[in-house]
Amino acid sequence: MRAEEVQSDITRVLVTEEQIQAKLDEIAAQVTADYDGKELLLVGVLKGAVMVMADFARALPTHMTMDWMAVSSYGTGTRSSGVVQIRKDLDTDLHGKHVLIVEDIIDSGLTLSWLLTNFASRGAASVEVFALFRKPDAAKVEVDCRYIGFDIPNEFVVGYGLDYAEKYRNLRDVAILAPHVYS
Ligand code: 5GP
Ligand code: MG
Ligand code: MG
Repeated sequence: MRAEEVQSDITRVLVTEEQIQAKLDEIAAQVTADYDGKELLLVGVLKGAVMVMADFARALPTHMTMDWMAVSSYGTGTRSSGVVQIRKDLDTDLHGKHVLIVEDIIDSGLTLSWLLTNFASRGAASVEVFALFRKPDAAKVEVDCRYIGFDIPNEFVVGYGLDYAEKYRNLRDVAILAPHVYS
């Protein structure tokens, strides 16, 4: 795979690495203020949230702990179905913890809404969501999301952790995938 081939799979860059980092600093400052004196647990949803978790956690000047969940929402290609299965559960007991779920993107909202229901019975002191991207035009269910990075158009995007068929996660910017790749 050559670098030019990767570039020809991209229609245009939507959000740059610099814009993402600036936004993460902004949200980290809000989170720092909002969770003052509280025990903060960041829960990343694998694998898409790996990059945002790595950068967001380092933008926080406070103590925090980190855990991961892997879920698969069955669906094909560029659509999720809302039928969610846990592939890897948390290692952490949520009792008394202030949980902030860190997500790459909210599309239909089905995955997050399932996760929030799943977390509701685990005894956390609070559960909130930070999603780096959200597609407001794609929402099938409303998800109460406290922190949003960017609202983006209803297009399939890749990069900064977001994949198509497991590829493109390593792109530094977030870009619209050219339809010729998946159609
Ligand atoms: P939802 O359940 O909200 O429809 O979407 C859940 C998951 O589908 C996201 O966490 C993400 O992994 C994937 N997804 C949704 N939209 C996109 C997109 O535009 N690009 C990529 N690469 N993944 C997406
Ligand atoms: Mg995700
Ligand atoms: Mg994916």
